[in-house]
Amino acid sequence: MTNYEIPTEQWAQVVEKSGGPAIYKKIPVQQPGPDEVLVNVKYSGVCHTDLHAMKGDWPLDTKLPLVGGHEGAGIVVAKGTLVDDSDLPLGSHVGIKWLNGSCLACSFCQQADEPLCQKALLSGYTVDGTFQQYAIAKAAHVARIPEGVDLDAVAPVLCAGITVYKGLKESGARPGQWVAIVGAGGGLGSMAIQYAKAMGLHTIAIDGGSVEKEESCKKLGAAAYVDFAKSKDLVADVKKATPDGLGPHAVLLLAVQEKPFQQATEYVRSRGSVVCIGLPAKAYLKAPVFDTVVRMITIKGSYVGNRQDTAEALDFYARGLIQVPYKTVGLSELQNVYTMMEEGKIVGRYVVDTSK
Ligand code: NAD
Ligand code: ZN
Ligand code: ZN
Repeated sequence: MTNYEIPTEQWAQVVEKSGGPAIYKKIPVQQPGPDEVLVNVKYSGVCHTDLHAMKGDWPLDTKLPLVGGHEGAGIVVAKGTLVDDSDLPLGSHVGIKWLNGSCLACSFCQQADEPLCQKALLSGYTVDGTFQQYAIAKAAHVARIPEGVDLDAVAPVLCAGITVYKGLKESGARPGQWVAIVGAGGGLGSMAIQYAKAMGLHTIAIDGGSVEKEESCKKLGAAAYVDFAKSKDLVADVKKATPDGLGPHAVLLLAVQEKPFQQATEYVRSRGSVVCIGLPAKAYLKAPVFDTVVRMITIKGSYVGNRQDTAEALDFYARGLIQVPYKTVGLSELQNVYTMMEEGKIVGRYVVDTSK
């Protein structure tokens, strides 16, 4: 067993007031509690949720000051007395995801719906996350990253990958069917195209704003691309993209705008499902009752994934089925990533390297 030298201070990005900015500074390294591990975070993906958290977009307060981040991949360097060596020896490769911990005892936790636990701890939101060199998570919840998997490339799987994989399962779409991915060029969207492909689904990618997004979606395997900014009749264009013109069997809504949430029931196929995953601020869903009833449409939400979804999403990755474009920059450059994200300019994901 390796023993790691743990510094008392480390670099982190800290949000001191709601609205931001994130400030790159040194803060103390914390000690893990009995059921926790201390992870030397090597890389962390930057999810749009981190931007929502900094801006205070949602009707749920964040802790302050806050270290954001919840796609952290790293190495266990210390652990509490209750963490078994046979389970998580020092040196294990792990991921810190959005669900940092849950009570494991409530009716939701007992049924593997731990994201719904009332006592859930959220990385980079209600507890400090992975935009620091040493982060803490509950041992029961850290993702077990298979040996040999690159920690930078796998980081985006820890939120984006798990979330879209779960969303695709929740959609009920079966191999051979069609799924529209709304926000397909972004972090979750790029993952969704690849997971859908691996699950034997055809995808219609919907995004806009740049040629790079269209090229990237097609390269990832999308059968069709609809540019929401250029299309004169988005509903008709999406339906036309399916061979019989009746529309996709499912829609994954990953965009950070309200409008697509109002449009999806218009182009989803009868008996299809609309799965809401993106979380635009102060947005509402709207659907005509008549059509929803007589076309038997399902509208549902999907929220990250449980520990089993995590293991499965990582297994798809480890088998080489998921290859999503990402760019790596230093942790010190996080604020620039937020600016690009706000402008909708990111294709795929940005990953921060905590050593820079
Ligand atoms: P991102 O910024 O990488 O991608 C969003 C994409 O949506 C961009 O490519 C943008 O161009 C596109 N877009 C904007 N308007 C659109 C429109 N009208 N039609 C189609 N596309 C449009 O963001 P991300 O990191 O992929 O996150 C997406 C959303 O998902 C965020 O709101 C985030 O908080 C949320 N999220 C939810 C969960 C969950 O468990 N439900 C988990 C992770 C993230
Ligand atoms: Zn996320
Ligand atoms: Zn619980």
